[in-house]
Amino acid sequence: MLIAPPEVRLPSRDAVEKAVRELDRRLGPSKVDVSEAGRLAHARDDSAAAGRLPDAVVLAAGRDDVKVALEVCETHGVPVTPRAAGTGRTGGAVPVAGGVVLATQGMADVVDVDRHDLVAVVQPGVVTGALHAAVEAEGLFYPPDPNSLSSCMIGGNVAENAGGPRAFKYGVTREYVLGLEACLMGGRVLRTGRRTIKGVTGYDVTSLLVGSEGTLGVFTEITLRLVRAPTEIATVLALYADARAAAAAVTRVIARGLVPRCLELLDAWTLEAIRRQGISVDPRAGAMLLVEVDGGADAPLDATLEALGETLSEGGQAIDVVAAQDEAQRARLWEARRMLSMATRKLTKYKLSEDVVVPRSRLVELLDEAARVCERERVRHLTYGHAGDGNMHVNFLWDDDGERPAVDRAIDGLMRATVRLGGTLSGEHGIGVSKAAYLPLEQGPELIALQEDLKRVFDPSGLLNPGKIFPTGHRAC
Ligand SMILES: Cc1cc2nc3c(=O)[nH]c(=O)nc-3n(C[C@H](O)[C@H](O)[C@H](O)COP(=O)(O)OP(=O)(O)OC[C@H]3O[C@@H](n4cnc5c(N)ncnc54)[C@H](O)[C@@H]3O)c2cc1C
Repeated sequence: MLIAPPEVRLPSRDAVEKAVRELDRRLGPSKVDVSEAGRLAHARDDSAAAGRLPDAVVLAAGRDDVKVALEVCETHGVPVTPRAAGTGRTGGAVPVAGGVVLATQGMADVVDVDRHDLVAVVQPGVVTGALHAAVEAEGLFYPPDPNSLSSCMIGGNVAENAGGPRAFKYGVTREYVLGLEACLMGGRVLRTGRRTIKGVTGYDVTSLLVGSEGTLGVFTEITLRLVRAPTEIATVLALYADARAAAAAVTRVIARGLVPRCLELLDAWTLEAIRRQGISVDPRAGAMLLVEVDGGADAPLDATLEALGETLSEGGQAIDVVAAQDEAQRARLWEARRMLSMATRKLTKYKLSEDVVVPRSRLVELLDEAARVCERERVRHLTYGHAGDGNMHVNFLWDDDGERPAVDRAIDGLMRATVRLGGTLSGEHGIGVSKAAYLPLEQGPELIALQEDLKRVFDPSGLLNPGKIFPTGHRAC
């Protein structure tokens, strides 16, 4: 049930052999893995995108290794696919043209955490959860929290401009990237951005690189903005009969000007997956809102919690609104939320998760459209996600290979409905391989052509992560 790789130019056998020999000579054989097991371990990510088996994996230990790999591969015309943890959901790290996978998980140092400047400098292979622990040990806070944080890495987060539940209050990865060191195809090293909080010198190349999905350059060092850690956190659960009632409550919270740090919606089937994890949820509930607020001495939580409780209960539609009783209960709730993707997999043989976004005011319409296209195509689905941002994970579930064409039609219907509602194809997972065919639904030919021109400025030979983002060579899944 994989998405076939796009039509891309493949390197010649001769070019690959020469490149691998030179990489071996310059980096040493321990950093160039040509074993079948090593290549297979770097051929897929967490999406349905099929790649081609890479010819070699470079296990970079530092910037100089990355530089050498990009220089050698450019010389011999061999494609390179950068990779961090491989948890991506759209095939960004999948080597669709074979060649070399440039693995950065060995570059995992937290170089600096500066309590005075509120800055962290890290290598790209630092696991996001480990970064959280390192800065929290200093009383500081790095807010972006993709639900894969126990395994995904900061290099992958920057390349995808990752979000997470806390984005409602704190924003996504881009808001925290101050500067980058990036190697370009051919081995040129760029330093972009700065270490200061303010700064407007030149074009904002840092922002262009954030979210570029490994197609413009390979990050070798990342400078991040930190904030002071909140000292008070409270989690509230609100249960409703259905997702429409829950979505209406989200709209009320936003309209009242409340800014919880997380505002997550889980629909009926998602609750079923939670129950199957052994967590009891009121059987009357067909939807849940998981809401979290934070503050500190300057922003005590009592008044916010009271206003939140009132707003969630307004209109008499809430079945129950309760605050987590203690830290252990709070941790259990979030653990269940973070495990949702795994838990929902147990409901079905196959699952595809989309991450569309609509303006917050159109959340109910998005839920209705998702239900409508799935009903039309007779495809099972469940929906959960970052409702406060209008960013929902619509998951398509099926058990039989023969159902796949109907699933594809349902995905197509969802993409079209999203754009019609004024939304966007991806809130956090990127375009990669999985959504490249849909890009023209959202962006005009001029904008796509301009971005392809930009790609050529950074990578004239088109060897860095080919076959990603742009629609050429792709068919809808
Ligand atoms: C269970 C689960 C939950 C998830 N929840 C979320 C969520 O809440 N929010 C969210 O945003 N995403 C989520 N994701 C998706 C995924 O974890 C993110 O996209 C994450 O940012 C990918 O990081 P990674 O280290 O796995 O990167 P990879 O998958 O290895 O790579 C992702 C992209 O980054 C590029 N890349 C990697 N390293 C570099 C580098 N050094 N320089 C340049 N480009 C590079 C790759 O080429 C690729 O295009 C989830 C995934 C799973 C499996």
